[in-house]
Amino acid sequence: MSEKLDTQLMHPRDQIAIIISRIYQRGLTTTSGGNISMIDDNGDVWVTPSAVDKGSLKPSDIMCVKSDGTIIGPHKPSSEYPFHIAIYKSRPDIKAIIHAHPPALVSFSIVRQIPDTNVIVQAKKICGPIGYAAYELPGSFALGEKIADEFKKGFDAIIMENHGTVLGGIDLVDAFQRFETLEFCARTILYGTSLGEVLYLTDDQIDEFDNQVPGLMSEMDSVSYPSD
Ligand SMILES: [Zn+2]
Repeated sequence: MSEKLDTQLMHPRDQIAIIISRIYQRGLTTTSGGNISMIDDNGDVWVTPSAVDKGSLKPSDIMCVKSDGTIIGPHKPSSEYPFHIAIYKSRPDIKAIIHAHPPALVSFSIVRQIPDTNVIVQAKKICGPIGYAAYELPGSFALGEKIADEFKKGFDAIIMENHGTVLGGIDLVDAFQRFETLEFCARTILYGTSLGEVLYLTDDQIDEFDNQVPGLMSEMDSVSYPSD
């Protein structure tokens, strides 16, 4: 696809196809792991299918789970869609969810740690505080409950123990930016650790950056998202 991602004008299935392709091509999830969804104004949830190669998903492959439970599309919805539904029920402000198995965040999840986002000034604000969901069987109701409970506490980014990560956003670009930034923090901490002691910014240093007048924050200007 050569189109830019437009969260206002593009159909959810087109947005999801672009973002899942970007995540897979960048090695940020495995072929069999990871799923994306969006909820529209009718309460219908658009979600990636199960058992279809993540590297070649087309908009027509994206499934719709209607608000009454009816499933529309050529495949089965992702086996993990129940936790997406649980999050949407617990947090009406969240309109898009990304779940993936990115190597650096999964590394944190297998040593049962949460990455400290105070590595660069922008990351903490983009990611927000990070929640942690203890292990439950993938696809299970219990996992959905654990994740939804973390979102209920107000977290928009969760580490899933020995599994992966899940991020929510007000739209798909918001969720993707949170996902990409959190994985970036995890990766740089891992790289830094191999070089020496990792030193973090203080909250005061981050607040100082956040309190700048917006006109000075050129790096935070709105960005466009050309497709890969
Ligand atoms: Zn998973």
